[in-house]
Amino acid sequence: MKGACDPTIEPQSKFDFRLVRCRTDNYAVLMHDPESGATAVVDTPEFGPIDETLRQEGWKLTHILNTHHHHDHVDANEALKEKYGATVIGPEKNRGQIPGLDQGVKDGDKISFGGEVIDVIAVPGHTLGHVAYYLCNAKVVFTGDTLFSLGCGRMFEGDAEMMWHSLDMLRHLPEDTLMYCGHEYTLNNGEFALTVEPGNEALQKRVEEVRELLRQRKPTIPVSIGLEKRTNPFLRPESPEIREKVNMKGVENWRVFGALRALKDQF
Ligand SMILES: [Zn+2]
Repeated sequence: MKGACDPTIEPQSKFDFRLVRCRTDNYAVLMHDPESGATAVVDTPEFGPIDETLRQEGWKLTHILNTHHHHDHVDANEALKEKYGATVIGPEKNRGQIPGLDQGVKDGDKISFGGEVIDVIAVPGHTLGHVAYYLCNAKVVFTGDTLFSLGCGRMFEGDAEMMWHSLDMLRHLPEDTLMYCGHEYTLNNGEFALTVEPGNEALQKRVEEVRELLRQRKPTIPVSIGLEKRTNPFLRPESPEIREKVNMKGVENWRVFGALRALKDQF
């Protein structure tokens, strides 16, 4: 959708990715370009595990990308910046709430990283300033607390129409784009999803796979946008089964989304 993609480049051929489990259920993601040595972390829930992974890999942190201002996404900004001298990039709207922010970004901005372009996509709703970071050649999107696997974030600052618009943009990314999100909430999300769309076979299969991954203590992300579109109820307000469940027919998608989000808040 955004940026100039080169279809001849294999997904993830250029960068190495490491998922770092932090706190209880947060993820930070490290992205490393072996050619230039550039290394980014997307969100900084906790210094220790991120620093340890950098040390093990022998990578020097050059960029910190924050998706939004919540403390469990920015807590280690200053400690990492102090140790590595990394540039802190995050939503300009939340300047003042993002520790150490150097470069404020907004929708449509482009960040240069390892010779490639990171597109900034505004995805308000969870917070008003929330952004996603999209690399179209690497076929990766970092969605923070906006889109989770099989779920989505709570609407702390925005409303249903706004949040739906954000999710709708993300679901229109190419289906083979791999999505990294900010939390390991997939099983709980899947259990809710099965209550609103129990007849979705792709969802049933995904939840089984998620249970198995967790049994093996493996992460359930990244996951493709295509699989999310087939399984995540918050990306599926057109589903007749879901519309039946929330008793809403012939209304806009965002209203169905809002009803689902309200149900999930009570789940
Ligand atoms: Zn958050």
